[in-house]
Amino acid sequence: MSSISPIVCVFGNPIAQSKSPTIHTMFAKQFGLSLDYQKRLAPIDGFVQSANEFFANKHCIGANVTMPFKLDALNWVDELSVQAARAGAVNTIIRQQDKFVGDNTDGIGLVMDLQNHLVNLAGAKVLIIGAGGAAKGALPALIEANIESVCIYNRSIVKADKLVAETNAYTPDKAYTFGSLQTKGSQAMQEFDVIINATSLSLSANLPSLPDSIFNHHPAVYDMVYLSQPTQFLNKAATLGCDTCIDGLGMLVNQAAHSFFLWFGHKPDTQPVYEYLRALNK
Ligand code: NDP
Repeated sequence: MSSISPIVCVFGNPIAQSKSPTIHTMFAKQFGLSLDYQKRLAPIDGFVQSANEFFANKHCIGANVTMPFKLDALNWVDELSVQAARAGAVNTIIRQQDKFVGDNTDGIGLVMDLQNHLVNLAGAKVLIIGAGGAAKGALPALIEANIESVCIYNRSIVKADKLVAETNAYTPDKAYTFGSLQTKGSQAMQEFDVIINATSLSLSANLPSLPDSIFNHHPAVYDMVYLSQPTQFLNKAATLGCDTCIDGLGMLVNQAAHSFFLWFGHKPDTQPVYEYLRALNK
């Protein structure tokens, strides 16, 4: 048996801020695994060369991929999981015997975190704000969790409608209803059980331009952004009477947990890692 530790990395640009090495090193310890998890700064137009160089070493068994390389990774791998194909992005690469498989764990990470916070997704009416990569990555897993319907709201209506059309293409119409919020009446704005902010607006302390009435039904509210303080979006929801307001730190930890499972077949306990990062992030 080889005594060399398996090597995994995260590709990104920038990458210095990545919490993935900390998260995966803590996961590995739970199973007594020795893991060499590295950060790889790939040039913006150099993902292919970076991936080829990294995986030339047979001890490199997988990788995470973050901004801006999720689409490059989709094109680099030999095979895609259903989740990655639907998400149109790869955040996890798994080396198999004679090929590299691309998967996407962002959506499952979101769903796991919502479930950890006891948000009931089965039969839920969901509003997703945003139509970028994060929204697209979340949709397949939300649908798998048996939500009833999804409305997508985005600054660019064209992108919202495109995402609705793409999602409809793999979703049986009778099971789920989709629609761009801009094309729905004001009544629809008051009926959500779960609202997910999948925009980057909270990073600049900005709010989506939506009426307060979206919170009338006191939905569970999720912001994919996480900061040292609750985001402005979560503060607003709380002020308007929403009791369940969650930021994206748990999504980060849970997407990592699923990547870890794909590489090593072990399901880590996410709670201690989440608590550790939360304390660091204060
Ligand atoms: P994209 O760049 O693909 O999409 C950005 C989204 O934000 C688009 O819907 C865009 O709208 C919207 N947006 C940006 N600026 C504005 C603005 N000024 N006004 C209105 N809408 C705006 O990014 P991603 O989808 O990949 O990521 C979105 C956020 O989710 C990021 O902040 C990221 O950090 C977070 N994220 C968190 C994860 C976690 O694990 N917690 C995982 C993945 C992402 P438009 O289409 O009109 O431009």
